[in-house]
Amino acid sequence: MSETSKLIEGRTGPWEIVLGLEVHAQVASKAKLFSGAAVGFGAGPNEQVSLVDAAMPGMLPVINGYCVEQAVRTGLGLKAQINLKSHFDRKNYFYPDLPQGYQISQYKDPIVGEGEVIVELDDGRTFTVGVERLHLEQDAAKLIHDLDPNATYVDLNRAGTALMEIVSRPDMRSSEEAVAYVKKLRTILIYLGSCDGDMDKGNLRADVNVSVRKPGAELGTRCEIKNVNSFRFMQQAIEYEARRQIEILEEGGSIAQETRLFDPGKGETRSMRSKEEAHDYRYFPDPDLLPLVLDPAWVKQIEDSLPELPDAKKARLQAQYGLSAYDAGVLIIEQARADFYETAAKGRDAKLTANWVTNDLAARLAAGGLDIADSPIGPDAIAELVQLIEEAVISSKIAKDVFERMWAGDGRASEIVDKAGLKQVSDTGALEGIIDALIAANPGQAAAVKERPQAIGWFVGQVMKETGGKANPATVNQLLRAKLGVD
Ligand code: MN
Repeated sequence: MSETSKLIEGRTGPWEIVLGLEVHAQVASKAKLFSGAAVGFGAGPNEQVSLVDAAMPGMLPVINGYCVEQAVRTGLGLKAQINLKSHFDRKNYFYPDLPQGYQISQYKDPIVGEGEVIVELDDGRTFTVGVERLHLEQDAAKLIHDLDPNATYVDLNRAGTALMEIVSRPDMRSSEEAVAYVKKLRTILIYLGSCDGDMDKGNLRADVNVSVRKPGAELGTRCEIKNVNSFRFMQQAIEYEARRQIEILEEGGSIAQETRLFDPGKGETRSMRSKEEAHDYRYFPDPDLLPLVLDPAWVKQIEDSLPELPDAKKARLQAQYGLSAYDAGVLIIEQARADFYETAAKGRDAKLTANWVTNDLAARLAAGGLDIADSPIGPDAIAELVQLIEEAVISSKIAKDVFERMWAGDGRASEIVDKAGLKQVSDTGALEGIIDALIAANPGQAAAVKERPQAIGWFVGQVMKETGGKANPATVNQLLRAKLGVD
């Protein structure tokens, strides 16, 4: 049982949810898996269809080497075994969006074997999800039911697009863990460049296998929820489905193994079809395709070209910059964000820089719906702002104001500070004048401080007010204590 397991209370006591995921990740390739037809979002219906994709008689599939390379890259990124020999099988089923009458997939010998994904939860706990396999397969076409009340249309653009199906072990115990797993997997895929991870376009979607059991008992019968394409839906679908199963079991019923669909409008899952077993598909090796044999030197070459991946980057940021696991974790969610940070942090206070990147800047970008690559404030500009704080030219409070002006396009931090006269006043002469006048004008308050030293805060506030927040608080405190006779 996972460390982070969350039990759901039913009438007959606690139940444990067991989750395994089959994630379909579309390979970021310009062409399909077995044809030269283009892959692209937004093309008109049936504009990206070759004779192979339309399954015209006599057509032969030709494997796309780029897609194979991406599957190997992904396998390596998942620390998985790369199978130097794999083969393609036909998975037979009739479906109107599958013109061949079968899907070319990999059954017995997938291109990638066992691997693992280390997953972080929001509270900082980590756990490992085992990857059972990754195989290459074709996507189906798309049926369109809402153009005509009496007809269904088919758009073959998606037919034959390359998918990597990444099958996990049933290692997740809550919707939170499942969502965190897919988020981490998505981050890794984006770092690798093998899938763009755009869930809105359906480029990453998950089939979620849900079962429940009493803790320690055998695995229960599972239901598979098909094609969940958002993190919110995944959480809702899992929670609904687990409750549904618990209620059936508590009433003495049993779970029928089936495939279900999540209806986001109703927030519930409903039965789609009874679940097939592998033998129902009559898998057999595709006679049109030779076994896929990889050269170990080529695999090594791919391995050597892998970028620094999220886990390694996180560990390095912590070690190199002394960042907390949390800060490093937030920075590595996007490669561009980590790069931005490292540019900004050069020669600067690493923690302070991390705060500006992960808090103020991240919040501004999110509010504007902007990617960090499109940030109007670049890493050098953040570095300059941090330098002004480090050198006590401005206080952290004034820095917030400077940052807002930078965002509004008023210029660089030092220009704004000069133009608006925001420099912190640390000049004791100037501050002493203000303090002397305040003490003279408020003898009652001065006497109160002698009785109760905490009352000095009132004077600090007044000095700040007089200087428009620009007085250096440490200097002000020091001067006030000396003049009011407080230790
Ligand atoms: Mn599949």
